[in-house]
Amino acid sequence: MNSIVAIVGRPNVGKSTFFNRLVQRREAIVDSVSGVTRDRHYGKSDWNGKEFSVIDTGGYVVGSDDIFEGEIRKQVQLAIDEADIIIFVVDVEQGITPMDSEVAKLLRKVKKPVFTAVNKVDNAMRAADAVEFYNLGLGDYHTISSINGSGTGEILDAITDAM
Ligand code: GDP
Ligand code: MG
Repeated sequence: MNSIVAIVGRPNVGKSTFFNRLVQRREAIVDSVSGVTRDRHYGKSDWNGKEFSVIDTGGYVVGSDDIFEGEIRKQVQLAIDEADIIIFVVDVEQGITPMDSEVAKLLRKVKKPVFTAVNKVDNAMRAADAVEFYNLGLGDYHTISSINGSGTGEILDAITDAM
């Protein structure tokens, strides 16, 4: 059976950009405005000869912060229930936000493999900034740039090894 990989994280960290890179089709809507990816998107991908399904989460409702955070929690919980492997995307430009910490708290309890992808590491200088993400308490992380593709092969190697 093909594994299901879910991409979770707060808005604007680059989940849909990473998803599009994985599925090689622009299925998800990418926008710099928070909350623009309204639905869950499903795609198929393969790496190292392994085929898997990918879910891009982000059915966020634009509203009060409370609703917003509730939606994210719901999406993460859905992903945890539905997926075999979870990719938690965070953003090196913003650093750790309170919402990232909330998601990390949920993910620390999960028995499934969780991979932390520190996104927007577009150059070597930003790789050093990624160190703070150890504080999420999820162990080691991968640095990636969903825009230029750097690091994405390495995280996919690790993910497919876990299948
Ligand atoms: P989502 O809300 O988590 O799905 O995030 P999106 O994929 O919609 O991306 C949000 C913004 O971040 C967009 O303006 C993207 O172009 C930008 N972005 C995504 N990945 C990267 C990256 O690797 N580097 C940089 N510099 N920007 C990125
Ligand atoms: Mg999105």
